[in-house]
Amino acid sequence: MRTLLIAGNWKLNPTTAEAAAALAEGVKNGLGSATDVHVALAPPFVFLGAVDRVLEGSPIGLAGQDLYWESNGAFTGEISGPMLVDVGCTHVILGHSERRHGMGETNAHVNSKLKAALAAKLIPIVCIGETKEERLSEKTEEVLLEQLTGSLAGLSNEEMAGVVLAYEPVWAIGTGLTASPEQAQAVHAYIRGWLTQVFGEATAARVVVQYGGSVKPDNAAELLSRPDIDGALVGGAALKAADFLAIIKAGR
Ligand code: PGA
Repeated sequence: MRTLLIAGNWKLNPTTAEAAAALAEGVKNGLGSATDVHVALAPPFVFLGAVDRVLEGSPIGLAGQDLYWESNGAFTGEISGPMLVDVGCTHVILGHSERRHGMGETNAHVNSKLKAALAAKLIPIVCIGETKEERLSEKTEEVLLEQLTGSLAGLSNEEMAGVVLAYEPVWAIGTGLTASPEQAQAVHAYIRGWLTQVFGEATAARVVVQYGGSVKPDNAAELLSRPDIDGALVGGAALKAADFLAIIKAGR
């Protein structure tokens, strides 16, 4: 009942609008009109317009990499949910570990952003995941519980069903290390169990939970075949259309 979502998180890449448009064009042409797997691209804010123009008429979603919880006002440097919608976004990534660990984002911040995303009718992709130290000291579930409870506080069942979660172990992001399909499935099952406890079985069964962290064409099929892994949030391998398309193909 869940459709896979494969999303490309371009982070601070590429460096020109022309290159961003070319990358989007490559994905669009390779994907065609296929809708059996949902696909979204998350370019830097300044290239959203250029990528949106390329994606016109394709089923590919467009995602912001973050947003600010206020809609407008004196908040220098910020971008709001309504602005993302205006430029053509359908999705938004929230609470990525590079923001949690690099920019001091807390679960409370992520929760405020999540509510703003839902108010703007964007599909939020909420990232959670433990660091290497936390995994080694067997604190993975404890950390995830704190992130789930804090980031998703105050949601109705219906709202929760429309949220995408991305489990991204911090030690696997951009490192070439991937959680084994068994390790990832175990965590995804834990997340599904928590969702069942808090929101009930029917809602939990609807929530798409992506895996992220060094997903590549050669490991995607095995990860995506696990019962609770409903897609991938792809960083490095999303910067080459051929690699990203191979990952989407692996999910079919
Ligand atoms: P990676 O990044 O695929 O380069 O590990 C994933 C992410 O940070 O979303």
